[in-house]
Amino acid sequence: MVENNTNKKVLYLRWRPQSFNELIGQEHVSTTLKNAVMNKNWSHAYLFSGPRGVGKTSTARILAKALNCQNSIQGEPCEKCSICKSVTTGNMIDLIEIDAASHRKIEDIRDLKDSAQYLPNSGKYKVYIIDEAHGLTKFAAEALLKLLEEPPSQVVIILATTEIQSLPPTIVSRCQRFDFRRIADNDLTKHLIKICETEKISATKKSLELITKVSTGSLRDAENILEQISVQFNSNLTEENVSSSLGLIDETISLEIAFSLLSKDTSSVFKNTHSLIDLGIDPLEIQKQIINSLRELALIKIGEINIINQSENIIKKSIDISAKFSLNKIVEITNVFSKQEVISGEYPPISLEMALITVIIKQENSINQKTTVTPTSINQKTTVAPTTKTINKSIPEKQSFQVISSSKKELETQKNPSEATLVKQKTRNAFTADERWIKVCEKLKRSRGKKYTLGSLLRNVQNPLPKNSILTLKFQSKTLTENMIEEIKNQQVKKLIESTVSEVYNENITIKILSNNSSDNNESETKIEDNPIVRMAISMGGKIINKKEDK
Ligand SMILES: [Zn+2]
Repeated sequence: MVENNTNKKVLYLRWRPQSFNELIGQEHVSTTLKNAVMNKNWSHAYLFSGPRGVGKTSTARILAKALNCQNSIQGEPCEKCSICKSVTTGNMIDLIEIDAASHRKIEDIRDLKDSAQYLPNSGKYKVYIIDEAHGLTKFAAEALLKLLEEPPSQVVIILATTEIQSLPPTIVSRCQRFDFRRIADNDLTKHLIKICETEKISATKKSLELITKVSTGSLRDAENILEQISVQFNSNLTEENVSSSLGLIDETISLEIAFSLLSKDTSSVFKNTHSLIDLGIDPLEIQKQIINSLRELALIKIGEINIINQSENIIKKSIDISAKFSLNKIVEITNVFSKQEVISGEYPPISLEMALITVIIKQENSINQKTTVTPTSINQKTTVAPTTKTINKSIPEKQSFQVISSSKKELETQKNPSEATLVKQKTRNAFTADERWIKVCEKLKRSRGKKYTLGSLLRNVQNPLPKNSILTLKFQSKTLTENMIEEIKNQQVKKLIESTVSEVYNENITIKILSNNSSDNNESETKIEDNPIVRMAISMGGKIINKKEDK
């Protein structure tokens, strides 16, 4: 039977540690603090830094409790006296908690300084916990510094922060500092098992390991996720329902994508990526998971297999794949891919698609840059392919497009210089134009117009080739065109785009938008070859096999 939880506090509050011994994964902190209380040599100012949800605030409260406890035992609070009980229930008047994210002004710190001058009410010490301390304004931080320099003897101040680098060094140097760690996966899973036993939640170990994995060392996240899923599935957790609830990616697929990226198998990359998109998995999550698969391949390569937390099956597959590629290549691809900005929630997942294509293009480039190409290093597909490919006959003559496979370019030049050079130039132009455009989008990826991020919007531009210093922005859809028209009504936005384009293309360029309302305008006709993805695929040696009408 499922217990009725409605009158209870949420799980992570019920399981909040109440003594140093109950803290998980922070023994280096709890031992030192316990000894300090026991030996009565604590400091008046502490700084707890570390990721969210790892126990900073809980530790601060335990310290407040232990310092004030009427009969603490070996540095631990007794949990029985009125002081201990009042801290546990949140009614201890001498424990003052301030959230610096919302109380960040100098007035707030002045109030604190004033109240610090008064003696404690019920306890021996007044303890101030300033959470999110990095949120304090410059002046508030200066005012706090004065208090830290000369704290009243009955006052202990504990600062907690997730961003220690944002705190003034003068403050950091005034405090005794403790760095809280992410909680190790093993410890986290053990803790979840304990909770499940106590709370009568039936859960397989594997299902709890999945929760651990997505919690990335945060106890609070792990406990919250456990509670949510346990409510969702009536306290019955299996690997399947946890992974479906968390939208977890089948890791064999992300590994498959990593493998296809390394082998430059564009069609497999896209097929697998879209199978995940179709399952409703977020593009950003897909990118993260592919990066993780690549990371694991690199770790195997350098013999650090122990760091990998994966099923045997995945590890076995990863070992096979990593044997096929050099460490250099895996690292290079991981670096390029992780630098691409993928937009969460985007549909169609254009930024993810572009990121994947960029990785493949970069590989093509590094191969082209090599002066000597050994036959074994050429992709098998390339050597088998005919020297000149013509697009499927069913496509009208004027739309046909010839591409030449990169490995045979030099040979072709010798055989038939004029034709080959022409074809080669055509390919080159399409290639570099796209690269430059990616650069433009990259530069504007954090520039926001009135409603949209300019870089993301501009990624949808088709065939961005300037003519006579004018670059016509052409979009496939009417909506995108209208969005862009709205954005460049703002002259500053227009100027920003123009200056970025001019800088990247190295010429003075003005932009205009091609409206796709005018149906008699031949140029506005949508050609499949104008789709940036298709164009890049062609420039890499792909060919159009079949066109589907989308009406
Ligand atoms: Zn006590």
